[in-house]
Amino acid sequence: MEYKAFIIKYTEIALKGKNRGYFEKALLAQVKRLLATCEGTFRVTHVSGRVYVEGEGFDFDETVQALQRVFGVTAICPVVVLHRDGNNRLPDIETLAGKAVRFIGTFYPSFHGTFKVRCRRVDKTYPLTSMEADARIGEKILETYPQMRVDVHAPELLLHIELREQVNLYSEEIKGPGGMPVGTSGSALLLLSGGIDSPVAGYLIAKRGVEVDAVYFHAPPYTSDRAKQKVADLARVIAAYTGRVRLHVINFTDIQMYIYEKCPHDELTILMRRYMMRIAEAIALREGKMGLVTGESIAQVASQTMQSLMVTDEVVTGLPVYRPVVAFDKQEIIDISVRIGAFETSILPYEDCCTIFVAKHPVTRPRADKIRAHEELLADKMEALLAAALEGDEILEITA
Ligand code: ATP
Ligand code: MG
Repeated sequence: MEYKAFIIKYTEIALKGKNRGYFEKALLAQVKRLLATCEGTFRVTHVSGRVYVEGEGFDFDETVQALQRVFGVTAICPVVVLHRDGNNRLPDIETLAGKAVRFIGTFYPSFHGTFKVRCRRVDKTYPLTSMEADARIGEKILETYPQMRVDVHAPELLLHIELREQVNLYSEEIKGPGGMPVGTSGSALLLLSGGIDSPVAGYLIAKRGVEVDAVYFHAPPYTSDRAKQKVADLARVIAAYTGRVRLHVINFTDIQMYIYEKCPHDELTILMRRYMMRIAEAIALREGKMGLVTGESIAQVASQTMQSLMVTDEVVTGLPVYRPVVAFDKQEIIDISVRIGAFETSILPYEDCCTIFVAKHPVTRPRADKIRAHEELLADKMEALLAAALEGDEILEITA
C-alpha cells in the first residue's frame, strides 16, 4: 500500500458563490503548473467540489512541496484510493476494514496511541450507515493492533474513510499556504529591494491571488551587479509561488546623484523614495497594474514614520499603494521570510541604493511643503532624468 494520490482542500475559494467555478479553474491550473515541475506523471481532476491529484512515479516530498506553493490550497491530504469494481460497487465493509488495517500497518507501523475512525457516507446507497461502518472498522483495527485504543474526542490518529465516487482513506492533513489562486485578483507592481521586507510584502500580496511584477532601482557603480543578482534571486522566491515575475531594473544613479547634489542630505532618503514611487507608478500604469506594493512598516526606520509615509504617498495619485507588512514587527516579517525561503538571500551583504547615500540623521518628520520646495530645486533636469530612467527600463523575465 502506498500513497498515489492527494486530496487538495481549499475552503476559502469554496465560499465564493457564483465565482466558484472561476476560482476552481484557476486553482486547477496552478496545481497543474506546479506539478509540471515535479518528477512523475499526474492526473488532476475535479469531482464534486474536490480536487484530486493522482500520480505515477513521483517523489512524495517533492510533490508535497510543490503543492504547498499553490495559493488557494489549505491542506494536502495524501490518500489511498479504492476504486469501484466492475459492477460499479464500492468495496464491502470487510474489504474496507482490511484496507484500514493495512493502512495503519503501512503508515503507522508500531503505533501505540489512540485513534478514531470517521466514515463519511456521501454515497447514500452504501448498505451501512457511517456509524455502523465506523464501529466495524474500529473493531477490526483493535483486533489486529490490541495496543491501540479508541479515543473519540481527541484521537492521535484520525482515520478518514470517505465513501463517495471512490473510497478515500486518509489521516494526514499537510498544511497548504492558504490564500487565493494567483491571477484571480488582478495584478500589481512591487518595489523590490534587496532587503527582508519587500520580498515578504510581495509574497503576501501574491497570496491574495495577485499577480506580481517588480521594479528594482539600481545605482551602478554604487550598487554592484551582485546586488542586482540578489534582487533577481528574491524575485525568483516569489516566482516559485506565482510562476513568473517580470523584474524591471531601473537605473537610478543619475537621479540619486542629482538629488544628492542639490538637496539637503537629511532629506535624501525621502526624496529618493518619492522619485522611486513616481517611476514605479508610471511603469505600473503603462503595464495596466492595479496598485503598487512596498515593504514599508510603520516606524521601522526614519523613512517609515507615519509622517514619512504620508509624504511619500502623496506623489502617487493614480493608484493605491499596498503595504502588506505595515503593521508587522520586524521579527514577524523575518519569520515569514525564513518560511518562504527568502531570508538567506535577503541577508547577503550587498548594498541596495538607499544604504550608500543614507544620511546619519535622516529626517523623521518631513514636512510636505518643505520637501516639495526642495523638489523645485530639481526642476531643471529632473523631468529629463525621469524620462531617461523609464526609457532605460531593463526587463528580466524571472521564472520559478
Ligand atoms: P526592505 O527590507 O524591503 O529593503 P527596508 O526596511 O530596507 O525595506 P526602505 O529601504 O526604507 O526599507 O525601503 C522601503 C521600501 O521601499 C522597500 O520595502 C521597497 O518596497 C522599496 N525600496 C527601497 N529601496 C528600493 C530599491 N532600491 N528598489 C526598489 N524598491 C525599493
Ligand atoms: Mg532596504
